[in-house]
Formats: sequence, C-alpha cells, structure tokens
Amino acid sequence: MNVLVVNSGSSSLKFQVIATGLERIKQYTDHRLCRGEVEGIGGEAIIQFKNQQGQSQKFTAPLRDISAVLDYLVRFIASDKSGVPEIKNTGDINAVGHRVVHGGELFSESALIDDKVLRGIEDCIDLAPLHNPNNIKGIQAARELFGKTIPQVAVFDTSFHHSIPEQAYLYAVPYHLYRRHHIRRYGFHGTSHRYVAFRYRTLRGLTREQTNIITLHLGNGCSATAIRGGNSVDTSMGMTPLEGLVMGTRSGDLDPAIVNVIARKEGMSPSEVDTLLNTQSGLLGISGLTNDMRELQAELKEHEDRRVRLAIEVFCYRARKYIGAFLASMSGADAVVFTGGIGENSPEIRALICEGMEWAGLMVDPARNQETVARESKISTEDSTLLAYAIPTDEELLIARDTVRVILGEPHPS
Ligand code: AMP
Repeated sequence: MNVLVVNSGSSSLKFQVIATGLERIKQYTDHRLCRGEVEGIGGEAIIQFKNQQGQSQKFTAPLRDISAVLDYLVRFIASDKSGVPEIKNTGDINAVGHRVVHGGELFSESALIDDKVLRGIEDCIDLAPLHNPNNIKGIQAARELFGKTIPQVAVFDTSFHHSIPEQAYLYAVPYHLYRRHHIRRYGFHGTSHRYVAFRYRTLRGLTREQTNIITLHLGNGCSATAIRGGNSVDTSMGMTPLEGLVMGTRSGDLDPAIVNVIARKEGMSPSEVDTLLNTQSGLLGISGLTNDMRELQAELKEHEDRRVRLAIEVFCYRARKYIGAFLASMSGADAVVFTGGIGENSPEIRALICEGMEWAGLMVDPARNQETVARESKISTEDSTLLAYAIPTDEELLIARDTVRVILGEPHPS
C-alpha cells in the first residue's frame, strides 16, 4: 500500500510517501518512495523534495493553503520530474496517514477517519488550539483531493500515553477541574517513544511485555517517558508540551507561581507569559543566543561562553533528574534510550546526561558513544546493568505502518 504521510502545521507541511505492506507473518515491509517539506504556505511556498535515489530538489510555488499544497504535491510526485516511478497518478496513493497532535481522552489508538472521528478530533481543539486545527485542515484537504473512498488514518501524539495510571496523570488541583475541563497530563511525542521502544525490543529480541525502559526524545521539543511492560506509565510533558524537560525554546518545569510574578513585574498578560515560556525560554532563554544545541556546542568550543555552558548544564541536569525520578516510579528499568536530533547526534550531551549515574549501573562507553551518530547502537559499557542506547526515531514510518494496520483491522504486533 502506498501511504502518503502528512504532518501539517500552521505554515508548513511535512510529507512522505512510504510503500508499506503487512505480511501474513505480521512483518512489515517498507519502502520509502519520497519525502519533503513545504514551508511558507500562504505565500510563495518553498518546497524541498527528495526521492528514493537521494536526488534533492528545491523550488517555489504560490500555494495559498493546505488544500493547494496537497493538490500541488501529489501532481508533482506523479509527474516525471519527481523520479518516483511507483506513483503515476493520484490513484497510486492508496491511503493517507495523518499526524494528529491531540487525541485527548477520546483516542487511545490510531483511528480510521470517518465523520465521527473527525468530530472527535475537533472536540480536542480546546486542548491543542495551535495544532489540531491545522491537522484537521490536512485531513479535509486530503478528503477533497482523494474523495472519501481513499482511507485516511489519524495517528495521535497522545495515544501511546493512554496507559498512564491516574496517580501519574492527575494534577493535585481541585478534582472538579479535571472533570469539568479535562485538566490532566496527556503527554506527547507518543509516536516517537513508541517507535524507539519497538526498535529497542527488536534489537534485543525482547517481547513488548519485557520492555522496561526510559526513552528520552531530545529534539527541539524534548520529553522523557517511562515504559513498563511495553506501556507508557509516565511521561514528562503534561496537559500541553510545555511541561518537563528543558527544550529549545520551552522552559519545561517551573514553579507555577512564576507565571503571575512575571506577569506582574513585566506588565504582561497571562497569554503573553505563556508565549514567553513557549518561545523565548529553554536553551534560547538561558543562553540568550540560540535554541539550536549544535550551535551552542560549537559556540562553547570556540568561546567558553558562561551562559551557553549554563544552558547546556541546566538541560542535561533536568534530563538526568527525570531519569532518576522515572527509575524510582517504575521500580527500575533495563535501559535508557536516546532519540531526537540531539539524542541521536550528540555523544557529548548523552555523556553529560549520564554523568554520575554509576550508582544506577549506567556507564557510557566513550568509544561506542562517540561512534554512534545518526544510527542505532548500544552506547553503554558491557558491565552496565542499566544499559544506554541511541536509536534514531522514525515517526513517519510508524504512521505509515499504523495506517496500514488500522485499515486491515489488525491489532498491535507484540
Ligand atoms: P529535532 O527537533 O529532532 O529535529 O532536533 C533538533 C535539535 O537537534 C536541534 O537543537 C539541533 O541543533 C540538534 N542537533 C541536530 N544534530 C546535532 C548534532 N550533531 N549535535 C548536537 N545537536 C544536534
């Protein structure tokens, strides 16, 4: 099945076409046909495109909205210019898989999209006002383009975390706020945490039930998840993606009273403080320089900048603190798994996070760690009892696989 994977944001859209099959022996066969990104939707959009031979193209086109983008993309992919011979016309796309940020308490699994599911996603807009409306636009645009006959599947960032127990998802605020407004921890990056947990158990030849790990997704957004028996039992992001680890521009955990203090002292409205905590904080806020970890590390090597060093130290300390907290909450784990742009590519940050974790049986092997960039490998020493792995994430692949699995009505493979 040729699956178009769509991740639609406010002014950008990421896409891939992945040919995925689910064989009788419950093995997936995947073949990535092309991938790319469209930025600057609403004006002269920039399209970056790469086919399976690795040929890249970059061009512009006036694309007013997501409908125009999808229409343009599919016609381009089907044309001779794309170098994707498997797709000759719209009919060669057999299904569409959508990344949907918030599934609230409604969706514990990926769902075949019909009118009822679409209404459910709309009901979750209140929980993710910046994200769900764009995801819905992507779904509606694909419906217009392909008609209702081509199946579409929604894969939610939140659904992997549905197994989190009450004691971990409830905030200690008056209970009626949970009842009335669904104020609770939902967690995000679920597709990424689920994918690397799946790769980890495949690498080690374990079953889902035998998978007891802490996954650290460290990208521009960052989150940690405690996975026990293959299920998420706690995660660092909360009702929104602001809670938890230090991120590129988000603060992560802070004393909630600070919101009021900043508002009062800086003459800001609560929503302005919210924007500050989401877009001006984290690595960018502390360093005063950039949200990009690679640039921070390069800067530190050249100039020994104190605030850059502090940003990196606070980032790594917070991640280590979460490892400790989750080790306690899940009664120990077998491994810590790093993923995301930073987790996959920065041996230095991985080593700093694991520093002083010998007490827990975690020792990073310097050579293995250094060699492991953008590939999967164990990075801990042979005598570690808490292992460490780096595993590149692949959310699009999991979306394509879920799309096929849901269409075929198959349960999760274990
Ligand atoms: P993501 O959101 O997963 O694309 O991750 C983006 C983050 O990963 C940015 O902070 C990048 O600077 C960081 N990153 C990517 N490559 C490296 C690298 N080689 N070293 C350090 N950070 C990196």
